[in-house]
Amino acid sequence: MTTLHVRDLVKDFSVRTGLRRSRLRAVDDVSFSLAPGRTVALVGESGSGKSTVARMIARLERPTGGRITATAADGTEIPDRRYRDHVQMVFQDPFASLNPFHTVEHHIARPLKLHGVTGTAAETRERVEQLLERVNLHPAADIAQRRPHELSGGQRQRVAIARALAPGARVVVADEPVSMLDVSIRLGVLNLLARLQREDDLAVLYITHDLATARHFSDEILVMYRGRVVERGAADEVILHPRHPYTRLLASAAPNPDVSAGRTELLSGTRAVEPTGPGAAPPADSGCTFRDRCPQAMDVCSRPVRDHAVAPGHFAKCWLYADGTDRVDPAR
Ligand code: SF4
Ligand code: MG
Repeated sequence: MTTLHVRDLVKDFSVRTGLRRSRLRAVDDVSFSLAPGRTVALVGESGSGKSTVARMIARLERPTGGRITATAADGTEIPDRRYRDHVQMVFQDPFASLNPFHTVEHHIARPLKLHGVTGTAAETRERVEQLLERVNLHPAADIAQRRPHELSGGQRQRVAIARALAPGARVVVADEPVSMLDVSIRLGVLNLLARLQREDDLAVLYITHDLATARHFSDEILVMYRGRVVERGAADEVILHPRHPYTRLLASAAPNPDVSAGRTELLSGTRAVEPTGPGAAPPADSGCTFRDRCPQAMDVCSRPVRDHAVAPGHFAKCWLYADGTDRVDPAR
């Protein structure tokens, strides 16, 4: 069992505007833990920094500051060379993440070999087929010999999930795993991930812009805006009682997040909410990065803002809650 620890994570990118180079803080002081069997959702619009967090956890990007570690059940830190056996990623686009020239078997056998999981060729083949069965790809022996273009989008994403599990992963980072799939099959893929999680006690980081599936599939939600986690708490708490003005904006723009309303409604209305658009410059100081859009902005909001508790285990990075009192939700 592996727990992932993300501490004070920072990522700066250097950007050129005309002749000037400047620094863009894509991820600003993000911390959270992800325990076995738990799902944390990282929610935000594109450009919020959530994919950059994912890429740093997957070690595809190096942090500017902070630390990402994984620990075993006894609390000892997983050494760097073993980290990738434990932490695996499922990407947004299953087409781009699979090589068109290779068979499904090759895709899954490769991480098995890389991580030393297999023995003979026959054992490898058997292991590949077992993994395909686990992600409901039947008949496994037939699927194993196909190439990505011979599979549907949903089947490709199942192959990507099988590949992520191949080295015995304990932490799965799923970055918008269903947003490029047909609406009708999204829930099937998310339910598959949830079942694998239960069976293997996986820790899952679910990255999405969709509040409804975030609520349904996760225990805790972290809302990101311009690189910062602006609100965090238990999934139901954050969705039913959003406190940060940004989360309220997202929640009011999202379709009915009530899963009992049915699968069609849950997923058909799913869409990205992008009120800023990419490239909108945040205020150039350490104050609240939402204040150029916030309907409740005050003078104090240009000063650095920290997390304030709004309910047990529920925090908002907002000056409205600085005096410890909860503000009445204007939406209710
Ligand atoms: Fe709005 Fe101020 Fe809260 Fe930022 S800190 S969200 S500007 S009220
Ligand atoms: Mg992204």
